[in-house]
Amino acid sequence: MRKLLAITAFLCLCVSTSFAHISSIKHLDKEEKTQQNFRLEKVNGNVHALFGRGGNIGVSYGSDGLMTIDTQFANVVPQIKAELKKLGSDTPKFVFNTHWHGDHTGGNELFGQDAMIIAHQNVYERLKNTTEFRGRARTPTKKVGLPTFTYKYGLSVYMNGEQVKAVHFPKGHTDGDTVVFFTGSNVVHLGDTFFAGRFPFVDLASGGNVEGLINNIGKMIQMIPADAKIIPGHGPISTIDDLKSYHAMLLDTTLIVRKHMKAGKSLDEIKTAGFPEKYKDAGSGFINTNAWIETIYRSYSMKMKKNM
Ligand SMILES: [Zn+2]
Ligand SMILES: [Zn+2]
Repeated sequence: MRKLLAITAFLCLCVSTSFAHISSIKHLDKEEKTQQNFRLEKVNGNVHALFGRGGNIGVSYGSDGLMTIDTQFANVVPQIKAELKKLGSDTPKFVFNTHWHGDHTGGNELFGQDAMIIAHQNVYERLKNTTEFRGRARTPTKKVGLPTFTYKYGLSVYMNGEQVKAVHFPKGHTDGDTVVFFTGSNVVHLGDTFFAGRFPFVDLASGGNVEGLINNIGKMIQMIPADAKIIPGHGPISTIDDLKSYHAMLLDTTLIVRKHMKAGKSLDEIKTAGFPEKYKDAGSGFINTNAWIETIYRSYSMKMKKNM
């Protein structure tokens, strides 16, 4: 174990932003139901993506064994293990959590019986305590499902012939987001900072922030190699061009809402005005157009209050 584990901490920039509650977002159930086909897809090098119910799982398998990025839900662990077994092992040595949400950490208590779980320190705190998720208190995670290793800025595991580098991005989707770079395989797992082709969920109550998310994605675009394959938190395997389009869409829609806010329009008036037709598809996922407008509105209202 010690041989294949070498840990290094490194610096990354932090920005401070504000947070608040959000409402009127459709429940995750809709997306969960549309993602129930469990399947592995080879991404590149040592890395596969496992699609199922909840956030996409990144998988590294090779001579040092198995590692996963995220764990979906406890009640689908048998299906996840059945897919992993096809590679040669269903028992990861290491599990990274990209953030604390239940569709990415729900299987932790089962995988944690064998694996070392690694995550940002805010993920540990939110899993350990009774964190509220969209107005409902969730049960704290048992010790076996909590991260054993945490970090403030980042951490690397050297496994299967490559550096697997976790980098924290502050206050975007939540306040504990991690992006995982498979540096040799040229694959990056973006967690829920990337809802491919769809408006994103930004968890303002968990320290998420729309401006922070957009800034973080801008930094990621600079860091990710042009020919890398990207595993989003939700949606299909993507490219840097897909991420650039997503970034442009977030910038544009946010600018539209902010212009209306500056003109003194109410949230209802902004929802009625909506977005250009070209963004219709982006609102067809679990965050619809109204929910995205409300998220932007609430996130920037907090910022304006803070600056007053
Ligand atoms: Zn998710
Ligand atoms: Zn999430």
